[in-house]
Amino acid sequence: MPEKTYELSMLYTKVPIELLKKIATNVMAQFSLKVTDPINFKIPDNIKPNLSQQYDASQLIHYIKDKMKTRAIWVIPYDLTLPNRNFVFGSALYYNCCVLSTSRLNELEIYKEAIHEVGHVLGLKHCNLPCIMALSKVATQISLKHQLCDRCKEELKSHKINDTGQV
Ligand SMILES: [Zn+2]
Ligand SMILES: [Zn+2]
Repeated sequence: MPEKTYELSMLYTKVPIELLKKIATNVMAQFSLKVTDPINFKIPDNIKPNLSQQYDASQLIHYIKDKMKTRAIWVIPYDLTLPNRNFVFGSALYYNCCVLSTSRLNELEIYKEAIHEVGHVLGLKHCNLPCIMALSKVATQISLKHQLCDRCKEELKSHKINDTGQV
């Protein structure tokens, strides 16, 4: 059975359009997805950053989960965090949506982490191989991963992934 093609909405807040287009190109090269043209999206007034000017990634993804009818990636320039973490590059809800911060990453790292988060949106879990789905807590770990491993590619095709929750 061929991989199903999904539409992924590309949302952004104050990120250059050229960068968003390159993110979309990289994501579409990896997955069977149609990424929409970038949609300018505002962080609602009731979602505030913490004292270190970091946004809670959970709040952002739950906000777009309720707002969007399609799967979505939201790219923002602000730093992100989650409970018990100093910062995160991004976060995702399986089969739903993800948020990605460009604040700590160079361009190549942004593409890799975008693919990583979209991988979660397609149901992929963290992988313990040198694979784009390996968890990166710091930027140096991103340089060790380049693409999806064969096992993750097989999982995508199998349609057997049915995790729920946030990662
Ligand atoms: Zn992850
Ligand atoms: Zn893998």
